[in-house]
Amino acid sequence: MNLSDSVTEIPGIGNAYAKKLERLNIKTVQDLLLHPPSRYIDYSIVSPIANIQEGETVTIRGRVKTITSNFLRGRRLTIQRAVIEDESGEVQLTFFNQPFLVNMFIGNMVGISGTVKRFGNKLTFDQPEYEVLRSVNGIHTGRIVAIYPQTEGISSKWLRVKIALVLDRVENYDDPIPQELIEKNSLLSLKEAILNLHQPQKMDDSQKARVRFAFDELLYIQLMSLIRKRNWQAKKLAQKLNVSAFSKDILTFISRLPFTLTHDQKRAVDEILSDLAKETAMNRLLSGDVGSGKTVVSAIAIYISYLNSTKALFMAPTEILAYQHFNTLNNLLAPFKIKVGLKTSSYKNYKDDFDVLVGTHALLHDNNLPETTSLIIIDEQHRFGVEQRSKLSLKLGNPHLLTMTATPIPRTIALTLYGELDVSTISQMPKGRKKIKTFVVPKNKQAKGYEWIANRILSKRTSEQAFIIYPLIEESEKLTELKAATSEYLKLKKGYFEKLKVGLLHGKMKSAEKEKVMRDFKDKKIDILISTTVIEVGMDIPNATIMVIEHAERFGLAQLHQLRGRVGRNDKESWCFLFSDMKSERLKAMETNYSGIALSEIDFKLRGSGEIFGTKQHGRFELLFARFTDSEILRKARNAAQHLLNTDKHLAKHKDIRRRLSGQLNLKVLPN
Ligand code: ADP
Ligand code: MG
Repeated sequence: MNLSDSVTEIPGIGNAYAKKLERLNIKTVQDLLLHPPSRYIDYSIVSPIANIQEGETVTIRGRVKTITSNFLRGRRLTIQRAVIEDESGEVQLTFFNQPFLVNMFIGNMVGISGTVKRFGNKLTFDQPEYEVLRSVNGIHTGRIVAIYPQTEGISSKWLRVKIALVLDRVENYDDPIPQELIEKNSLLSLKEAILNLHQPQKMDDSQKARVRFAFDELLYIQLMSLIRKRNWQAKKLAQKLNVSAFSKDILTFISRLPFTLTHDQKRAVDEILSDLAKETAMNRLLSGDVGSGKTVVSAIAIYISYLNSTKALFMAPTEILAYQHFNTLNNLLAPFKIKVGLKTSSYKNYKDDFDVLVGTHALLHDNNLPETTSLIIIDEQHRFGVEQRSKLSLKLGNPHLLTMTATPIPRTIALTLYGELDVSTISQMPKGRKKIKTFVVPKNKQAKGYEWIANRILSKRTSEQAFIIYPLIEESEKLTELKAATSEYLKLKKGYFEKLKVGLLHGKMKSAEKEKVMRDFKDKKIDILISTTVIEVGMDIPNATIMVIEHAERFGLAQLHQLRGRVGRNDKESWCFLFSDMKSERLKAMETNYSGIALSEIDFKLRGSGEIFGTKQHGRFELLFARFTDSEILRKARNAAQHLLNTDKHLAKHKDIRRRLSGQLNLKVLPN
């Protein structure tokens, strides 16, 4: 049997099972062998029956002395009682609703694994793992046993049997990873790793198997990133920019800003300018906490594009943000005669005459974008798919690309998700920002909270404003216990906040309505803005000092941190109240942590990475074995990928790796 054979070649797997397996993405023998167990149970201690003790997890082997099956009176249950004996003694087992065991067990040698219980003065096994032993070693008992994730119609027991069958039959485990790399990185060979994944002798061995397969996954991802990067750099640049000729202008620009750039902002500017001076297109990620000042850094890049008489595009994920960036950029750039345009679905009639065009996804579908585009800036880049981004790049003949994110990404994750990008990080906040006082507020204190907010804002009339954020917009059947923004707005307006001006913002409103509310809030015509998470990222209201988040437990910490970042945008004292009745360690972390990275790492430990970075639905790849905490494996994989491509540019000598890259990862970038 070969690794590439279809699963239907395996005895006992017909079309029905093949279909079920396909739902798990298992089509070939190899896929089956790379199906990861979710955990293991150690049944490797084999004991004579006379020696078993209450509470012990143990395996016994013996002959079935008796077995009976009876109806339980008054219930629709049947009970099977068996007695197993070996040279040392005997023990009773109980099962429910498995009458077939009578025929299966009678007179046979069986292996029984489970935890010993006491029943009266006797020791028993209650519903233990069992198997009829055909040879000395069992598959389900008397060893470390793999447990696979629960799936309808495919039990762990069934998988163990089929995998054992396959392990007996496959002769050739052609390892796609060269021996040299296996040795250098102290990895198990493919064959050892597969054996240890499903039938480890020691718990440690299963861990070594996971490491090997995590290495493989990360290696493929790194290869893909490096090849993407290489291809990106091989493409002709859309517009060659002159940077050095304008160093004076840039210094003037920076000196005329209303503030001094932070050290990190300056470094990011330097990195970007040096990219822009090159003959290959920039592909850089600018990462920095909310409020760290990314926009102004991007404005300097726009200025360079303007000085070269070319155009720039600035893409934001929502209309509100596009509108705000339009204003911010206008404030920064208009004094230098730079014309800022705006295009969203509700602003179709933008001026053609612009130096930088700000817009939403609408830009992606615009067929009249200027040919002289030299620079694309994408804010909150994870909201746009890789394909969307590359489509836009392609359409414009490969201009420089600057993507920005406020989602804190630990370095290992950045390298895994965005390995082909160069990264600039702003980790320092502008001077003078005060810490936003953060409190988790339980239900019985929420009324007091509202009163306090009402009084504070009344007493500071027009100089302070508040946000109240809800996870949903309307009461829905399932989530009736959640307050919805719309209905709470009506209540609060007539209740606690009756003397204040209250506004409502949610995703179902028309863009024009949304923008009016936003503008009113900005112009201080609204004191308290009740909103769903449409305001999530990037919104800048300098007067906002209070952020209330209802049902805070429903949000990820990174998201809460971003929401909190909507206040404290100047030197005023600011507060963030997390309304939640759940006593959670997670939320408590917000009271003492102010770094997006630290919070995201905490969330990451408590909730897992897929949840946070949406990698499960990321569409780019699926990690079965690697975890984002595997920084050492990642380092090895990155070096190995670099080494492979340095010594074999097109992977001509590594056909299996090549095939996986172009097949499984849908990467049609390697020449044939
Ligand atoms: P973000 O990184 O979240 O996009 P912004 O670019 O919106 O942050 O900047 C947040 C606020 O900080 C803006 O009001 C901006 O004018 C201000 N800002 C940016 N850089 C500095 C700085 N170096 N010193 C003081 N304020 C700054
Ligand atoms: Mg921003």
